[in-house]
Amino acid sequence: MDTLTSVFDYSYAPNAALGAARHHTEIVLPAGRYGGGYSITVSGGSYSVTPGSGGQPDILTVTAAGAGPVGVHVVPTQQACGVDIGQGVLAQATPVRTGLVAAGGRLPTASIATPAPDSMSADRLRHSGHPFDSPPPAAQHKETQPMSWDFSTEPEFQEKLDWMEKFVKEEVWPLEVIDTDLAGFTRLVRPLQEEVKVRGLWATHLPPEHGGQGYGQVKLGLMHEIEGSSIFGPTVFGNQAPDSGNSEILALCGTEDQKQKWLRPLLDGEFRSAFSMTEPAPGAGADPTMLRTTARREGDEWVINGHKWFTSNAMIADFLIAMVVTDPDNDNQYARASMIIVPKDAPGLNLARNIPNMVSEHEPFGMGHSEVFYENCRVPLDNLLGGEGQGFLIAQMRLGPGRIHHCMRWLGQARRAFDMLCEWALQREAFGGALARKQTVQNWIADSAAEMQAARLMTLHAAWKMDQEGPTAARKEISMIKFFGAKVLHDVIDRAIQVHGSLGFSSDLPLEGMYRAARGARIYDGPDEVHRVTVARQVLKEYTPNEGAWPRDHIPTRREAAQRKFAAQLDAATANL
Ligand SMILES: Cc1cc2nc3c(=O)[nH]c(=O)nc-3n(C[C@H](O)[C@H](O)[C@H](O)COP(=O)(O)OP(=O)(O)OC[C@H]3O[C@@H](n4cnc5c(N)ncnc54)[C@H](O)[C@@H]3O)c2cc1C
Repeated sequence: MDTLTSVFDYSYAPNAALGAARHHTEIVLPAGRYGGGYSITVSGGSYSVTPGSGGQPDILTVTAAGAGPVGVHVVPTQQACGVDIGQGVLAQATPVRTGLVAAGGRLPTASIATPAPDSMSADRLRHSGHPFDSPPPAAQHKETQPMSWDFSTEPEFQEKLDWMEKFVKEEVWPLEVIDTDLAGFTRLVRPLQEEVKVRGLWATHLPPEHGGQGYGQVKLGLMHEIEGSSIFGPTVFGNQAPDSGNSEILALCGTEDQKQKWLRPLLDGEFRSAFSMTEPAPGAGADPTMLRTTARREGDEWVINGHKWFTSNAMIADFLIAMVVTDPDNDNQYARASMIIVPKDAPGLNLARNIPNMVSEHEPFGMGHSEVFYENCRVPLDNLLGGEGQGFLIAQMRLGPGRIHHCMRWLGQARRAFDMLCEWALQREAFGGALARKQTVQNWIADSAAEMQAARLMTLHAAWKMDQEGPTAARKEISMIKFFGAKVLHDVIDRAIQVHGSLGFSSDLPLEGMYRAARGARIYDGPDEVHRVTVARQVLKEYTPNEGAWPRDHIPTRREAAQRKFAAQLDAATANL
């Protein structure tokens, strides 16, 4: 089997020439993502699991009994959110060193056939920190060595991307300039959504059992990039925020009843939803542990009290998912909160207003960022999403993918602004020549191209790591691209506005709207500063302070040490003078 599916299952053929005992392969198990737990069956060989310490993944080592093929079958046994998430966990299980190839969902048999003995010991994997860092094994059974890095796209998937590119430009971009109401927009957008469904490109962020395609994050990245070029792209493809994140956590943690009641209509495009976490000061914002909204049990209901704001789309949502404190006295501050589904007509739910902001005047169809009061708001106990106290766990599941999906869409927005920048630079003349011939403008073009390329690679790498090891393991990479991508988006649009002069400042071009929206990107889903802190903390874990008074690279100290190290040779050299 050469395709990564939701169950991890493959076979490999040992190399007879090496001797049976030396045939083994190693597989990263994404333990820790949901608490680990696997049922493993190996035919034609034996296996052992080396538990990873300090957040490192477990390593499954499979050893062939002979020269025949070995079958490996791994199924997750753990529960997530109190609900069996079935086979979803092992979508992340990946043989070591499949590289970017596996991220696209395909696992070439060649890359898992008979790795050289000891070439990929768990120890080495841990020291390198990531399979990416290890050089390929010297000896391979196959003539060609497996490719660890691969920037190409499979031809059949590229065809889908090409179709999307054309479709978004020709069918979705025109929607941006039609002046219509929600009913009119719905009439226009429904046939487009149907076409997307027929093509199998609807709600691709979800696993197949929930109507998605089970594409990994890398493929999603390439698709979101195209969708993100238009604010309506995600709506047409069934993965607009905040509905996409909400559907993900409903799919992962929802009960069957909740899926029927909330997830199904959300996926069918009949429902809208909101995610209600942020509170005005002194409540939770950048620091979610400052949560003040509470829910207490009363009979067979939750009674919610609190004040939220910037709950995007709350005014038009059919339901909200609220993050609330249910166990304020828990010693573990990350176990105090839960998620509760609040229907729009729940008694005590007061949807006060959309908060005026930098983009609100231009928000279509009642969308916006709302202020919400929960005033003894009552919902059935069954509306708890996942287990009690699992609010932070679920938030983490939602926010990791949610953030990277934003970053993917920003690539498309930045690209669109960049295209406008370049076209106008060629078209507009000043001081005897096209703007494109001025060195400052050339600098903007070169800087933008380089920054966009960096952002794209960082986004796809973070997506790849999520595919390999899960969102928790990719925390540093996600935070890194969240603040970096937001800045690139902002800077590219800013330069495009500048090149267009007064035209760029005007509302006759989409740039000014894109610019205002881009400003929010530096704040929502965690402000830049918080993501920088996350990155710095993760990076610093890889360092220890040097012993003694001087830095490790202090030249006089190193010279002294080097002289001691080579004393014999230096003495011999001097003696020969
Ligand atoms: C367009 C938009 C849409 C949003 N949609 C939603 C939504 O749907 N649901 C929802 O729940 N929330 C939403 N939010 C809210 C968003 O998640 C919060 O704004 C964000 O988490 C920051 O919280 P805050 O605004 O309370 O800022 P605060 O927590 O008050 O922080 C203010 C500033 O303090 C600084 N700061 C904070 N921590 C640190 C630190 N550790 N180091 C250095 N500086 C720091 C940062 O500069 C930060 O911007 C949205 C926000 C925007 C702008």
